[in-house]
Amino acid sequence: MSDRSRPNSAKIIAVANQKGGVGKTTTTINLGAALAETGHKVLIVDLDPQGNASTGLGVSASDRGMTTYDLLLEDAPISSIVQQTDIANLSLAPSTTDLSSADIELVSNERRSFLLHDALRKPSFNEFGYDHVLIDCPPSLNLLTVNAMVAAHSVLVPLQSEFYALEGLSQLMMTLREVRQTANPDLRIEGVLLTMYDIRNNLSLQVEQDAREALGDLVFQTRIPRNVRISEAPSFAQSVLEYDTRSKGSVAYRELAQEMVSRSVGSSL
Ligand code: ADP
Ligand code: MG
Repeated sequence: MSDRSRPNSAKIIAVANQKGGVGKTTTTINLGAALAETGHKVLIVDLDPQGNASTGLGVSASDRGMTTYDLLLEDAPISSIVQQTDIANLSLAPSTTDLSSADIELVSNERRSFLLHDALRKPSFNEFGYDHVLIDCPPSLNLLTVNAMVAAHSVLVPLQSEFYALEGLSQLMMTLREVRQTANPDLRIEGVLLTMYDIRNNLSLQVEQDAREALGDLVFQTRIPRNVRISEAPSFAQSVLEYDTRSKGSVAYRELAQEMVSRSVGSSL
């Protein structure tokens, strides 16, 4: 799948929303698994000190070795922290709670917003042949999320289908515009993804209507349904695609992967 003759072949996507519990980690893992399933080579970068993406992919805290903390704060080469997961074509740069002190430790570092950028955007990174890099961001618009946005080509925003879902978006968009103005003018919005969608619930329909009205084509056609198999999978250290390959959740994440790959235009909103 990789075209190694093409420079910058890895597409780097930050999965971000400062609200917790909206489906960032779930989307990172399952979109990653769905892309990997179709032969794309995927790297998941866990940039949340909670390390849920690492745990969900079966890499327990004691197995993490070098982590994204070492990548950002100790200038460790990416090759020393990346681990192959149980899923073919899917690798992980794990995190631990160490990362929670990054904001403070980096306060006097002039390149503090560019550390992930410097690791992922250097020409030698392309030699690993990744097609996609998905960055799982913490639930905050802190320095870690800014690092992800500065490093990324685009931002994917999971939006939980609940009341007030859209209100947090303006803050996120403000940060995104700031990053564009100061560090990463080409940063695009990959799309806004409706998560935990319940077709029987009027609120879900309302949130969808409001989101499509306000954001138009930025909202993915694919909606991720609320599906118990999705929430069960991480406790078996599996993506939902492995845990229950025919579940509605698996089908939806495969559709998302397909939609994302086939949809080439982004926005400069
Ligand atoms: P975030 O990373 O944004 O904090 P998570 O991805 O960890 O959010 O999701 C929060 C919780 O909701 C988790 O327990 C997860 O298993 C559950 N969850 C996420 N998406 C779904 C879904 N589509 N259906 C059911 N449960 C979900
Ligand atoms: Mg998370």
